[in-house]
Amino acid sequence: MKQEHRVKENTMAKHHPELDILMEHAAGSLSLAQSACVSAHLNYCDCCSQTVQRLQAVGAAMFESLDPEPVGDALLDRVLARLDEEPPLSYQPAQRSGQDATPALLSRLMAGDFSDLVWKKVTEALRITPIRTGDPQFEFSLLHIKAGGEIPPHDHRGSEMTLVLQGGFSDDRGSYHPGDFIYRSANEVHAPRAFADEDCLCLAVIDAPLRFTGWKYRWMNPFLRLQAG
Ligand SMILES: [Zn+2]
Repeated sequence: MKQEHRVKENTMAKHHPELDILMEHAAGSLSLAQSACVSAHLNYCDCCSQTVQRLQAVGAAMFESLDPEPVGDALLDRVLARLDEEPPLSYQPAQRSGQDATPALLSRLMAGDFSDLVWKKVTEALRITPIRTGDPQFEFSLLHIKAGGEIPPHDHRGSEMTLVLQGGFSDDRGSYHPGDFIYRSANEVHAPRAFADEDCLCLAVIDAPLRFTGWKYRWMNPFLRLQAG
């Protein structure tokens, strides 16, 4: 019931991935962690889901129009060998199965089940729990910001994707609610503040640790480590 309510509410997501991110997602060339974050947004957003479906159809049509290339036995052996490899994260169809079924883990998080996660306190207002995805390059974590709490001003030594799951936050560029997707590239400084009336839960995918820019928190920078994998 709760899940249905969220999905309906979130068809009104106002902040979406740029087309290049949707294209990379449709082509399967995004990293696993980033792709999971985009998939979570698609579960909230019919508009982006339809765009991805169209892009996949275009991609399939282009692929079919290519002339076949002969391949040797060695390549076939390598492909068959890979079929036996263990997938790093088990994706099970979500209840609302569509073109982009949400991974079981995300469905659980989006339904508000955070009971068995271990939270690490970063500041008074911010707690983080990294989640293992098997992606060697990107950290995939859940952020909890207390109602009214601010994440100190920081930039990103790399990129950051954020998806709001509960509550919401605002920064100098706007206000973000459940289902909203925010992308920040390296060196963009911001200081998100959770809405005053509700704790905020977000997914965040980063490929380098945050870097606090204010004097009060800069001492922490050398201790911030990426928890990818
Ligand atoms: Zn969207």
